[in-house]
This record gives sequence, C-alpha cells and structure tokens, in this order.
Amino acid sequence: MAIPKKIVVLGGGSAGWMAASLLHHSWANKGAEITLIESDLIGVVGVGEGSTPSLKYFFEKLQIAESEWMPFCNATYKCGISFPDWTSHLDENEYFHPFYSDHDWKTGQAFIHNCNVRRQGFDIQTRPNHYWLQAKLAKNKLSPKLKQPQNKELDYGYHFDSQRLGEFLKKRAIKLGVKHIIGTVEVINNDDKGIHSLTLSCGKTINGELFVDATGFASLLLQKTLKVPFISYKDYLLNDSAIAIPTETLTDDDISPQTVSRALSAGWAWTIPLRNRNGNGYVYSSKYITPEDAEAELRTYLGISERTDIKARHIKMRLGRVAKHWHLNVLGVGLSQGFIEPLEATALSCIQYTVEHFIETVEQGSNDATTQEQFNQEINTVYDAIRDYISAHYRLNTRDDSAYWRDNRGAASPEKLSKILMSWDDSDSQFESTLQQLNAEVMYFSPSWYCLLAGKGRFNEATHALPQSVKVANVADIDNYCEQQALHFKPHYQALNNE
Ligand SMILES: Cc1cc2nc3c(=O)[nH]c(=O)nc-3n(C[C@H](O)[C@H](O)[C@H](O)COP(=O)(O)OP(=O)(O)OC[C@H]3O[C@@H](n4cnc5c(N)ncnc54)[C@H](O)[C@@H]3O)c2cc1C
Repeated sequence: MAIPKKIVVLGGGSAGWMAASLLHHSWANKGAEITLIESDLIGVVGVGEGSTPSLKYFFEKLQIAESEWMPFCNATYKCGISFPDWTSHLDENEYFHPFYSDHDWKTGQAFIHNCNVRRQGFDIQTRPNHYWLQAKLAKNKLSPKLKQPQNKELDYGYHFDSQRLGEFLKKRAIKLGVKHIIGTVEVINNDDKGIHSLTLSCGKTINGELFVDATGFASLLLQKTLKVPFISYKDYLLNDSAIAIPTETLTDDDISPQTVSRALSAGWAWTIPLRNRNGNGYVYSSKYITPEDAEAELRTYLGISERTDIKARHIKMRLGRVAKHWHLNVLGVGLSQGFIEPLEATALSCIQYTVEHFIETVEQGSNDATTQEQFNQEINTVYDAIRDYISAHYRLNTRDDSAYWRDNRGAASPEKLSKILMSWDDSDSQFESTLQQLNAEVMYFSPSWYCLLAGKGRFNEATHALPQSVKVANVADIDNYCEQQALHFKPHYQALNNE
C-alpha cells in the first residue's frame, strides 16, 4: 500500500486524537491529509487515566515535553500499581507491580533467583516490594525523576485526566494541520473494497482512502459496517461493568506516584491520583452485584457514603477484540478494536502500538492479503497476551469471602496461561524457558510474571529450611540497597512543581 493521501479518522476520544497525531507526525510531510470527525452528540468514554511507560515514548516521539502537557492534563507520575486484598492467605496481602528499568538489573535478577528457590519449597521472602526500586519510590512518595538528571531515565508511566489529554492532543493536532469536523456520521458508503465516504447528519459527505475507526464501543466502521467478528473474552474475564467517581485530592505532598487497585467483593477498585483530584472507580461483574450495591460499596470504600453531591458514572464494558484490526481500508483503534478491562492500564499502549505498527507496515510497501493477515495476527497476539496476564490476576486470587472470587478461581483459563501456571507450579520446570517457549513475554516480560505469581503468593507451603548449599540473595540487603537508591530521586510534589 502506498501511503494514503486522504485519511479520515472517525472519533475524537483518546484513540482518535492519538491516531491522528501519530499519522500526521509520520505522513503529513509525505503528502497525507488527515481529517478527524467527531460527534457533538455522542460523548467520549471519558475514563482511562493511567498509563504504562509507552505513553512516555508517545510524547517523546511527538517531541512534546512533560512541562507542556502534564500541567494541562493534571498529570502525575506513576511508578507502578499496588494490588491490596487480592489474597487472604499471606501475612501481607498486598504487593507492588513496578515499572522496571536497567537500574533494576541486579536486584531483579536476585528476585527471580529467590523466587525460583522459593518454588523449590525453601522458606524465603519473595514479596516483590523488597526488590524493586520503583516500589520504594512509590512507598516513599518519590517521583521517578533523578535529583541529578542522567541521560538514561527510568521507564515510568503517568496518571492524567483523560478528557484533558484528548483536548491537548486535539488543540495541537489542529494547529499542526489536522482538519477537524464536528458532525455525526449517519450513512456509511461502502462496497466490497471497503469504505469510500461518510455522510454526516447535515448532509455533507467526506471521502477518504483510509478510514480509522475510533468510534469507541460502537465500532461503527469495523464491526457494524464491515461486519468484522468480535471475539469475546467473557469466559476468561467476568467483569462487564464499571463505576467512576472522582474525589477531592489531599495536599500536594500527599499525591502518590502509584495506582492502587484494591480487590472488593465483586471486582476491584482503582484509585488514580491526579494533581487536582483522585480518579476512582469500581470494575465489577453485574452477575454478582447490582449497580446500586456496587456504587454503595465503592462509596463506603472511599468514605463518601453521605456525599450526594458527588455523582457516579456507570459504564458498561464489552471485553474482547475484533478478529481483524485492519480490514480492507479500515483500521480500528481504541475501544472499537477491543478492550481488556483496565486492571493494568494497557488500552492507550494498545492504541499506540496498533497505529505505530500500521505505519511501519505500510511504509514497508506491501499491502497484499498476507501483509494484512500478519499485521492482524500480531495485534491479536498482543491483545491475547494482555488478556492472559490480566486473567492470571483473577485465577490466582485466594479470597474465600464471595462467590465472585471463588468463581474467578475456577473460571476458564486461556490455554497459554494454563501452561504458564503448570510450569510455575512444577518446581523442576525452568519457568523462564517456559515463558520464552510460549512466546509469553510479548507484553509482559518475565519480571512481571514473577511479580504477579510471587505477589499473589502462588507457592506450595515452605517445607524446607534453607540449606547452606543453596545460595540466595539477602533480602534485607536488597531492600536496603533499593531504599538507598531511592534517595537519589526527587519527591513527587517537587518533580510535579518542576522544582
Ligand atoms: C472503566 C474504564 C477504565 C479505563 N481505564 C483505563 C486506563 O486506566 N488506562 C488506559 O490506557 N485505558 C483505560 N481505559 C480505556 C480508555 O478509556 C480508552 O481506551 C480510551 O479512552 C479510548 O477511547 P476511544 O477513543 O476508543 O473511545 P471514546 O472515548 O468512546 O470515543 C469515541 C468517539 O467516537 C465518536 N463517535 C462515535 N460514533 C460516532 C458517529 N456516528 N459520528 C461521529 N462520531 C462518532 C464520539 O463522538 C467520540 O468522539 C478504560 C476504559 C474503561 C471503560
């Protein structure tokens, strides 16, 4: 496929504006004209406030400095995610899943070694919180920014106001030349080669060579018009609903650089600290709790049961992905291509990966059915890999206080995940080799799998005292080393205030 000269992005949520920004960055100087259409009658989903480190690369690619976008989006730094209450059998039923970098190489190796020793039944502390630098930054409310900056930074993520992120990208893209049309698409003009134009309710028709479907859960072009099948994840992931409630933030120095994802009775609640407020929400299964009871439970958890002035938003979620993300002349991005619930805040990174990979593929010059097929396979692999990792969180819970948690333990397991768990449970198996053989590190490298499995305490009872012959890393030394390393980083509030 030659680089398309007329690109129409339908949808003005985060997905639409991220796609328009990336396409413009790569192809505007090669003659592509990009038009984004968004409806003023159909709103954006307006949630999605946590990222992975890939958002850092998104801004770096577009040469947008943190000082330019972070204050506008009330953004904060994110060192990782804390998972309290997903287990009930450990002394400390909380663990931290950090973003890791080269800085963690030594302690990370020690962590993996100690976990492998623990898998043999030897009694040794393997809570991830002791081994990773960003766990210490999060605990001590430090940012991932060094006091004395070096060339190589840590990998880290962000928390941000998603509406404002969309607005920021919109303003910038329009300024750079992306055409913007406000209108609702009513008629889609297509044939067996794909879509050739969209007609708005005002009667205006917009032609295009390539159409990007960023219409959210509606998936107007890819699913509704081109009838691309949807592969549901509902057998593996039971949640289908969410509630979002903002609360006031505390003082500047209380802003924590971590997301908290706490298990509740029929799902889990997120707390995402922004500069001006906390984003909170409850992701749950409507089979186990009514929306009213879920809202009451979330309000109690947040301590705002009496606050009728704070309104909640209820959202329905459809978990799964399309069979083909690129079909004929349509590329799906964002919720229109799929969604795997927000437990690890991966949706924006999927948008970014899809668009960047599409650009690379087109620039390689071929557009035959095999190229599209391969592209779709690769994106499917990414979605399924995230699904497996997220679904492991549920499989590994050890709570016994509700049918929801018990049923999650017994829910269907994707084939690859079953093999991963079998390998972990078998003390003779080389777990890292299994991950490689299964190509299970597409989205989550082995440290993340170790954090998840060790953090959830997926071990047989420790029956043997550690013999002299088995060498392990001293946990207290590592913990202390990480604490010392953390002293080189700026307090979160200082980094946010650019001090
Ligand atoms: C509960 C929840 C929590 C989440 N948390 C995270 C998170 O922490 N991190 C993360 O990365 N992601 C998260 N996400 C996902 C994230 O919110 C989305 O991936 C992201 O906002 C992109 O949404 P979107 O742009 O695809 O869709 P939307 O925001 O729904 O935008 C759809 C757009 O399409 C337009 N449109 C639709 N139909 C038409 C039409 N006929 N004509 C014209 N325009 C039309 C609408 O006007 C709108 O502009 C979360 C999602 C949910 C549901």
